[in-house]
Amino acid sequence: MTQFAMTIDGKVVTKTETFNVINPSTGGSAGQCPSGTVDDVNAAVAAAKTAYASWSITSDDVRKQACRDMAAVLAAHANELATLLSTEQGKPRGGLGADFELGGCQVWAGNTAELELPVEVIKDDNEGLIEVHRKPLGVVASITPWNWPLMIGIWHIAPAIRAGNTVVIKPSPYTPLSTLRMVEILNTVLPAGVLNVVTGPDDLGPVLTGHADVAKVTFTGSTETGKKVMASAAGTLKRLTLELGGNDAGILLPDVDPRQIAEGLFWSAFINSGQTCACMKRLYVHDSIYEDVCKEFAAFTANIKVGSGADTNSVLGPIQNAAQLAKVEDLISDAVDQGARIILGGKRSTEAGYIHPLTLIADAKDGMRIVDEEQFGPVLPIIRYSNVEDAIKAANASSMGLGASVWSKDIAAAKKLALRMESGSVWINGHGGLNPNAPFGGVKQSGLGTEFGTEGLKEFTSIQTLHA
Ligand code: NDP
Repeated sequence: MTQFAMTIDGKVVTKTETFNVINPSTGGSAGQCPSGTVDDVNAAVAAAKTAYASWSITSDDVRKQACRDMAAVLAAHANELATLLSTEQGKPRGGLGADFELGGCQVWAGNTAELELPVEVIKDDNEGLIEVHRKPLGVVASITPWNWPLMIGIWHIAPAIRAGNTVVIKPSPYTPLSTLRMVEILNTVLPAGVLNVVTGPDDLGPVLTGHADVAKVTFTGSTETGKKVMASAAGTLKRLTLELGGNDAGILLPDVDPRQIAEGLFWSAFINSGQTCACMKRLYVHDSIYEDVCKEFAAFTANIKVGSGADTNSVLGPIQNAAQLAKVEDLISDAVDQGARIILGGKRSTEAGYIHPLTLIADAKDGMRIVDEEQFGPVLPIIRYSNVEDAIKAANASSMGLGASVWSKDIAAAKKLALRMESGSVWINGHGGLNPNAPFGGVKQSGLGTEFGTEGLKEFTSIQTLHA
């Protein structure tokens, strides 16, 4: 069996104590993860701090090349990493699964090399010179979740390193193995200490995010944990980027063709079996097309195979962990108790692991938990509206604001409504598509700060204004 190890200061660190990582497709083991300790976190932060002294003064060209090199070694090891990712996360290799995630890692790492943060000249005349420079921050702590562990890891690592910071990453204990291996691979092209990884019990996260020598925390995960991370950052006024949950609404206007949009709706809601921060989590449909949309959406979805990530016929995989499965089942049964109607899926068969059928819930209403809470799984509530103003009001009533979408043949009309959605991103006739140059982040309790592109890169820097 493969022995997985942490990487601290460029060195492989194994542990005799390990914990089991579950393969969610089978309920069996995906491998044993080293149980790091507080001493390991301290060693990783110390290594990152030492490496920062030299990495922070490297030229921009060196750091650009590092991003290109990271993209290249990820490509060279894509097959191995995608297999491991599929085993511990559950997503199949094909479609928008593990191979797609590895492709995203390469694209984001490579694109980070092409971004520019030029010195801004505010004034340059007889009276003097004023320039704005972008400086790195120091040691960045990265905390990642279990849904897209490698891609989100790269979203944190690449801009941090490009801007001259050093990193300690702590992946979710549900999916740590692929990150351990990815960091080991990335260390073949990075100086020792620039990128470190620690894994272990739940108390390591707070130790890392509260560490006095960490200058910034970049966190992707739940809103509740995000609030704790924010509190732990207060002691030393750490910089923060928080990408938290969403409860994204989609609004279908009466002019859409239900059959034509069925596939788009499907991927908008069910990419990664619905375990995606910015996927559609509640769908508002005009009364005049409601039954047709339910029928066409269910017809398309019924043909999609959900199963083991190892089965090449599977388009989508299981729910990643038992707690999330229990949450999804609880929300479905609550919706049924409240009078909602299951039009597809609903209950699990006796398949092993955490495989759950794709589930569509009609006659869902605001106020039901399945509508008001983030389900983060393969179930979508469909809500009927008759006045678009009511739909917008309901969509915006959430405390979350990550993404939203408006669907219509009339793009100009859709755009007007889209700009009224209280969300960091909004899509027309689609939902959740990302671009490495397009800023991404949440409003309200969906997060703080921005990822991707130049705006995202700036978040890993502080401003130094030079007066001469
Ligand atoms: P969490 O937010 O609890 O965990 C995400 C990461 O944070 C993990 O690495 C976790 O590791 C770490 N963590 C947890 N507590 C702390 C802390 N106090 N300080 C520092 N790090 C911490 O997500 P869960 O896995 O518990 O999932 C719960 C819900 O979050 C889901 O039901 C879903 O709704 C949402 N979610 C949202 C995601 C998104 O992309 N926005 C991704 C995943 C989940 P550890 O547990 O070892 O501490």
